[in-house]
Amino acid sequence: MRREEQLSELKNNPKVDVLIIGGGVNGIGTFRDLALQGVTVLLAEKGDFASGASAGSSHMLHGGIRYLENGEFRLVREALRERNRMLKNAPHYVRPLPTTIPIFKWFSGMLNAPLKFVGMTSSPSERGAAVIKIGLTLYDFYTRGNRAMPTHDFVMKRGSLEKYPKLNPDIVCTATYFDAWMPTPERICIDMIRDAETANDNALAFNYLRASSGSGDSVTLTDELTGQDYRVQPKVVINAAGPWIDFVNQAMNEETKFIGGTKGSHLVLNHPDLFEATGGNEFFFENVDGRIVLIFPFINRVIVGTTDIRIDDPDEAVCTDDEIEYILSLIPKVFPTIDVNRSHIVYTFSGVRPLPSADNNRTGTISRDHSIRSVVAGNHLNFPVHSLIGGKWTTFRAFSEEVADVVLEDIGKTRQSDTKDTPIGGGKDYPMSEEDKQNWLKSVQQQTELSLDTLTTLFERYGTYAADVGQYMSAENDIELQTMPDYTRREIQFIVKNEKVVRLEDFIQRRSLIAMLGLANSDTVREIGHIVGETLGWSDVQTQDSIERTLELLKHKHRVGNI
Ligand SMILES: Cc1cc2nc3c(=O)[nH]c(=O)nc-3n(C[C@H](O)[C@H](O)[C@H](O)COP(=O)(O)OP(=O)(O)OC[C@H]3O[C@@H](n4cnc5c(N)ncnc54)[C@H](O)[C@@H]3O)c2cc1C
Repeated sequence: MRREEQLSELKNNPKVDVLIIGGGVNGIGTFRDLALQGVTVLLAEKGDFASGASAGSSHMLHGGIRYLENGEFRLVREALRERNRMLKNAPHYVRPLPTTIPIFKWFSGMLNAPLKFVGMTSSPSERGAAVIKIGLTLYDFYTRGNRAMPTHDFVMKRGSLEKYPKLNPDIVCTATYFDAWMPTPERICIDMIRDAETANDNALAFNYLRASSGSGDSVTLTDELTGQDYRVQPKVVINAAGPWIDFVNQAMNEETKFIGGTKGSHLVLNHPDLFEATGGNEFFFENVDGRIVLIFPFINRVIVGTTDIRIDDPDEAVCTDDEIEYILSLIPKVFPTIDVNRSHIVYTFSGVRPLPSADNNRTGTISRDHSIRSVVAGNHLNFPVHSLIGGKWTTFRAFSEEVADVVLEDIGKTRQSDTKDTPIGGGKDYPMSEEDKQNWLKSVQQQTELSLDTLTTLFERYGTYAADVGQYMSAENDIELQTMPDYTRREIQFIVKNEKVVRLEDFIQRRSLIAMLGLANSDTVREIGHIVGETLGWSDVQTQDSIERTLELLKHKHRVGNI
């Protein structure tokens, strides 16, 4: 059924068990969990899915070694467990990440860390080798029963400089441990929506549908494309609007001050020397101001970040000139001889962390743990509203499970299954060994007659869901894009039809890596714009408007220079 038809069904049938406002990873994770319990659940996202904080992350699934120092042992343990689950459940989109900390002192931070733990100081200090050793030993200890990756390793100065010749020679040693990273967090979210809707006919997720007001027994949802309003009557509302949570509560006449968001920005650099200098490792360290810095090989680019700046309106989060200067100034601390400047930037992105509201000047020390704040049914609203505060990408599954349990109790249902071992999308039946992968590719080749090279590219993009994409591509004549020959018309058509693409930028920014890798030049956007427009039945004017809008967005919000 098309989006418009599904929306008009809402008019006939406005009653739902659960309304989830916000389609970031926490809203979508909860949507999937509830769908798997057979609950009637509707998700409304004001923009595209995973376009808020969930797109602005550092792309890491990690325990968060730094949180140990704040005494957040529960969070670190949970995050490590969830990281390992994601390596197993979404192997198509989650990869091990060797992470190296360059260390400049042996004993610095020895006093600071325990004082922080007992709450006597919050000032930053550079971590010495001894403190990092304690942290990494705990990290290994937490995963001892479920070792998915190697334990940590310290390498002395000489060995480190042999391995990373461009590394700052002022180091005393390096520590390397393993975490995980996600090339396409947005696609993980899309996979989970598809899994949920496939499992349950009464689970529906809409993008470009804003929760605009609420009173009595209903919430008004406004279609951002047409302005049309839809009133739904939920038994329970989950406010999963991340950094927008207080705005959503306010729109429903509930004044809350749950969130104190901080903006973080990243640069994507096209810099082969820097890429090579990392040796395939993430370099991770704490700047003198206490902010976390990461330099991170990303496909064939390098991501560098991040900042941590208070912001009131999440809609205004963009990477500013000052942030660019700040982030660029961090690189020479680790790789002093590599020249990196603005000309290497191919994309920038920013997100707002939905942190709990706190009177704390040192934003880095505010807890990254999650919590549920509930407003019971009362004066203005006849249903309870559960707001999902904080959290990390890494822990979304556990958080979603916790929220789903609260909601199941509200509506008097019991849990039928959990998601601990549930594969996500194209992670289902994923061939883990090289031999199994080759066998899988050959068997799909027999059904599709696509070349092994094409199928390998699709497999890299979609995991085992590549079989569906490939079958659609080979069902009729297909043609490569002129501006980007590793995409074909029918691949784009398939994704647009099956993955709720509503606007051109949804495909360019969130269903593919085209924008992130700095490949969205004017010609590419135009060519893809015409395919998306034809697939969605747009007029020439609509297609043209959409292309111009996307180019503007890339240029002004993401600093894409070549358009
Ligand atoms: C700079 C940065 C770096 C980070 N790095 C990491 C990392 O490396 N690893 C990690 O684990 N975590 C990381 N995080 C944290 C993680 O990204 C977030 O905690 C997580 O994505 C929050 O997801 P969410 O679903 O709660 O919020 P969001 O993803 O922001 O989703 C909320 C959604 O609600 C929608 N919405 C708002 N108002 C309305 C409305 N009225 N109606 C309908 N929809 C609405 C928004 O459009 C948005 O899509 C990082 C975060 C940031 C910002």
